[in-house]
Amino acid sequence: MSYKTVILGTGPAGLTAAVYLARANMEPLVIEGPEPGGQLTLTTEVENYPGFPDGIMGPELMDNMKKQAERFGATFKRGWVTEVDVNNRPFKLAVDELGEIEAETLIVSTGATAKLLEIPGERENIGKGVSTCATCDGFFFKGKKVVIIGGGDSAMEEANFLTKFASEVRIIHRRHELRASKIMQDRARNNDTINWSLNKTPVEVVSDGMKVSGVKVKDNETGAEETIETDGVFVAIGHRPNTDFVQGKVDTDEAGYILVTPGTTDTNIPGLFACGDVQDSKYRQAVTAAGTGCMAAMDCERYLEGQAALDWSQSL
Ligand code: NAP
Repeated sequence: MSYKTVILGTGPAGLTAAVYLARANMEPLVIEGPEPGGQLTLTTEVENYPGFPDGIMGPELMDNMKKQAERFGATFKRGWVTEVDVNNRPFKLAVDELGEIEAETLIVSTGATAKLLEIPGERENIGKGVSTCATCDGFFFKGKKVVIIGGGDSAMEEANFLTKFASEVRIIHRRHELRASKIMQDRARNNDTINWSLNKTPVEVVSDGMKVSGVKVKDNETGAEETIETDGVFVAIGHRPNTDFVQGKVDTDEAGYILVTPGTTDTNIPGLFACGDVQDSKYRQAVTAAGTGCMAAMDCERYLEGQAALDWSQSL
């Protein structure tokens, strides 16, 4: 099977690229990975995506984007990409269940995954009090108690942000020293609404099955356990870009995020574009991901037009 363009990933970036490329008659193939719809399918209500004054459920938003792309001719297939060859043209992809696929251009929008603590009560309470995104879910904790787990810049930033809504914000970190930059630490330290539980390791998220009521932590010095009462647990221990399959083939930063030429979605491989969280460790919002998805589609279209013009002039 050979395609003009293959899009990997079905979060807001990949689906927006699919809408644009399908409307440009490029008939893109979109490969849906293990988490169709991406991180938004792990949230409940999305209130900050423009155009939905009453909010929209994350899975519904993603489903709508998929239907919109299908309406214009995008094809969706489930599969897991195990190998990519970007040294030869067309690119070759080995996809479990689908076999080998050839692509003139490739858009990588495989996203990033928020790291979890992997403690009891955590995963099963996502959407019931456990969140990995304060920007997305902070509003739901107006006047309530929340804890943030982590000691990096994200944890400091999210803690400060949450003080706008929550009545009490507590940072829980596994060491005495914070990893966050000094300026971010200072901002959090100077915020009176923020309390601290340092050198404590979270061991369990406590809930009644319907909603979270606390987090059990262990003191790393004494080994004593205590339960901190809270309505919300924000896990801010970092993200991991889903780029294992392109490591060593496309330029990435130390953390694995794909490097793009600023202001574009171009990678160091002509014809291979990256959009969404896979190339963005800073904004990580559905709307910014969708924006870069649109950019990737336009960059891709222009690249293919350039290649066609080159082929034509060489044939004269
Ligand atoms: P990070 O810098 O990797 O920090 C992760 C934090 O989570 C660390 O304090 C780490 O503890 C803790 N942690 C990791 N695994 C854990 C576990 N299993 N249990 C308990 N704690 C755990 O991640 P980040 O804060 O998301 O930042 C990522 C990048 O984005 C950084 O480069 C950061 O500077 C940048 N960023 C910048 C801004 C800004 O400038 N406005 C905002 C957000 C993020 P240890 O310290 O003990 O390892």
